[in-house]
Amino acid sequence: MLQQKNPKSALTQGRKSKRAIIYARVSTDDQADRGYSLPSQIEHCRQYAQRLGAEIILELREDHSGATPIGERPVGKELAAMVKAGSVDIIVIYQVDRLSRDIVDLLATVRMWLRAGVEIHTCDIGKIESELDIVLVIKGWQGSDERKKILERVMRGKAAKARDGKVTGGGVPPYGYRHLYDAHNRPLSFEVVESEAHIVRMIFDWYVEHHYSVKRIALELSKMRIPTPGENKGRFHRKRESGIWSGGRVLEILRSECYAGLWHWYRRIGTSGRFRASSEHVPIVVPAIIDRETWDIAQHQRKLNKIMSKRNVRLDYLLRGMVKCACGSARVGHFHNNHRYYDCVWRTNHNAQVEKKICHGRAVRADWLEGDFWAGLKDFFENYQRLEQLLRTAQEEQRTKQEPKRDELAAIEKLLADCEVDAQDCATAMRHAKGKILQSLELQQDEINARYDELTKRRETLIDTLSEHLSDSTVSEILHFARDVREGMENPDFETMRRNIERLKVVIVVN
Ligand SMILES: [Zn+2]
Repeated sequence: MLQQKNPKSALTQGRKSKRAIIYARVSTDDQADRGYSLPSQIEHCRQYAQRLGAEIILELREDHSGATPIGERPVGKELAAMVKAGSVDIIVIYQVDRLSRDIVDLLATVRMWLRAGVEIHTCDIGKIESELDIVLVIKGWQGSDERKKILERVMRGKAAKARDGKVTGGGVPPYGYRHLYDAHNRPLSFEVVESEAHIVRMIFDWYVEHHYSVKRIALELSKMRIPTPGENKGRFHRKRESGIWSGGRVLEILRSECYAGLWHWYRRIGTSGRFRASSEHVPIVVPAIIDRETWDIAQHQRKLNKIMSKRNVRLDYLLRGMVKCACGSARVGHFHNNHRYYDCVWRTNHNAQVEKKICHGRAVRADWLEGDFWAGLKDFFENYQRLEQLLRTAQEEQRTKQEPKRDELAAIEKLLADCEVDAQDCATAMRHAKGKILQSLELQQDEINARYDELTKRRETLIDTLSEHLSDSTVSEILHFARDVREGMENPDFETMRRNIERLKVVIVVN
């Protein structure tokens, strides 16, 4: 065991070795500062100083909060004075947070002491070269916030566990696996669920060996009514019927490396559930369901398919969002054999066959449909006089049709006026009435009120219906619009055509 050296002996030895001061600190009133006793700190520092070959000239023990700046602590003040006087070469502390828990004070002190030519050593991180030493910064930060430090320790523990090949935390294991638990009911590792693993192998086989598309695989699985991953784990609210697979689910399985025996553990940021960057994933070896080569081929194929399909994305469809199929579903742009088509979404839905709603509508060539539509539209707007005549005729027809309703409204207005007179009379009579006469007047008043309510309701309905008519201002609005559209139709580019069509809010039904 080392003995405490006498400072005087160091001086008399002509300073062959460096003069070291050990600074140990606890804080009995600061909860965060407990944990390292003064003797244990001193012992670690002595061993460290000995390895440096330094001579310990002083051992300082302080019981004071680390949140107080060093220069304001009784013992810290002494140390600062010795640094200033140049009577020390090395300061050894157990951990950087022993020096200060205040990050600003810590960095300022370290900077000042380093400039004074003093070496600062801590038992855990060694020699501090600069106040900007990132480790120092982190340690200082940790020291300044004990809660975060504890959290960090817990996460480190989890990451270490994950590196050991142990599965950590709750969460649902991937499709094809279930958790094995330790004695404390904590998840320990994965075990293969053979019934699901069989499906996983089938999916990879279809994809890699038979070159099925993801859609086709989803269709095959749906036909077989294989329960989906979500159904098995019971974690999703289902909109579809059971056993209907989506391409996304299939893709998720094809992408997951756990089936090749490597599961990626990751921590989430806070409670937001966002994923950390893949560099922070911890790979864990789990039982493989398929061989690595098959998995690699699947990934390669996936990338290839992605590149191939990109070609179709940016094609322009003039009638995008406006074409409907006779079956009621939308028709969307579809590129096939070098031609653009508008095809029924339901017909191309891979689950259509399973759900037994099949559309027999054929895909329509986009250039034909667009050409016809544009020509018709141009024709319609170019003949301005015919358009005006059409509108006037429609206006007249509507007016004739609405005539009886207009009469009815007039009648109702009259009845309402009568009602009001009746109510007035009734109220006047009631002021002087008593006994049975009053009772009969009250009944009469109820009847008038009921009649009034009925008439008001009917009047509102009629007003609504009549307001739907094609007024003169609406007609002139349409004609104005037609002129604008027509002017925009001279040698239009795609954008102009699209803009004009959009203004019309048309829906084209394809039979
Ligand atoms: Zn259809």
